[in-house]
Amino acid sequence: QEDPTFWREHNVQVVIRLRPINSLEASTQGFNRCVKQESAHCISWVGHPESRFTFDHVASEYITQEKLFTVAGLPMVENCMAGYNSCMFCYGQTGSGKTHTMLGDIVDLDHWPSHDRGMTPRVFEHLFAKIHLDEEHRKHENLRYICKCSFLEIYNEQITDLLEPSSTNLPIREDGKKGVYVENLSEVEVESVQDVVHLLLLGAMNRKVAATNLNGESSRSHSVFTCIIQSKWECESVTNTRFGRLNLVDLAGSERQKLSGAEGDRLKEAANINKSLSTLGLVIMILVDVANGKQRHVPYRDSKLTFLLQDSLGGNSKTTMIANISPSICCALETLSTLKFAQRAKKI
Ligand code: ADP
Ligand code: MG
Repeated sequence: QEDPTFWREHNVQVVIRLRPINSLEASTQGFNRCVKQESAHCISWVGHPESRFTFDHVASEYITQEKLFTVAGLPMVENCMAGYNSCMFCYGQTGSGKTHTMLGDIVDLDHWPSHDRGMTPRVFEHLFAKIHLDEEHRKHENLRYICKCSFLEIYNEQITDLLEPSSTNLPIREDGKKGVYVENLSEVEVESVQDVVHLLLLGAMNRKVAATNLNGESSRSHSVFTCIIQSKWECESVTNTRFGRLNLVDLAGSERQKLSGAEGDRLKEAANINKSLSTLGLVIMILVDVANGKQRHVPYRDSKLTFLLQDSLGGNSKTTMIANISPSICCALETLSTLKFAQRAKKI
């Protein structure tokens, strides 16, 4: 049973990010828009009927990666250094800018830092800077941080280790001490942004290979980059330990999957592809009820994604959702559906 007051205090931040209208959209529909930004918190969908939505932040297509990090990423870093779980995920149709937001331009370590690098590298830049400061300030307590990262993909309800792609179909386990975890998933200790970028590049490469082998596209898989931040310090000759978990999730495209013509394995696959995404939607809807004081069972275990993020969608954790949208009239219906999804998440 969930404790309803617990969810009432639970904090979900929702940020909308518009991307610039691209050349394909411009060539078919010009610069006609389906949304109008009213303020830094409010956006209108201008179809029929016109609908207004309010969020924690609405970022226009001109927001820089740096500014977006200040708005959405910075509070998360502070939170997980304090020993709480933080989770950020990007939601939106394929091509709306999820990967641009989460990873951005990380192609080349030789020309680091790239101006257009996204949320993940920036989060770690800030995290390591804070860690060094903290360790310096609290030398007398022997404060030490240890960060370990893992990177996985969920495709067709199967978990693959993106750092060790021969490890596929990994099971999720639950344990009183460790919480929810993926068995046999590799964990790599990181000490610098370069270490993290190296893992991100390796994972991105493996994600591409996996997509080709399975006849799928990366737009249909969810990727989860996790960092466990452990801190240890001494106080009156007692050693204290703290753990914070940071999840950075690039979700599969939210557009409805086409089922036409699919048979056998392909049909099963099509039905499974968005199981994690549809369960996430359902979990969010039920959590809204729970937040309103209703007693309801939350079906976290119905999908790999929600099972994995169970501790991040509850407990003492903070969740930030970035909903990516295209402002073009070409994407009017998908954009409306993303705004509605984001609105529901805001009510948790
Ligand atoms: P998704 O991961 O949601 O499928 P991408 O992040 O790959 O979408 O974005 C699709 C294309 O749009 C990419 O070429 C990307 O560089 C571009 N793009 C997305 N968001 C922005 C933005 N805010 N500014 C400039 N280009 C963007
Ligand atoms: Mg993507």
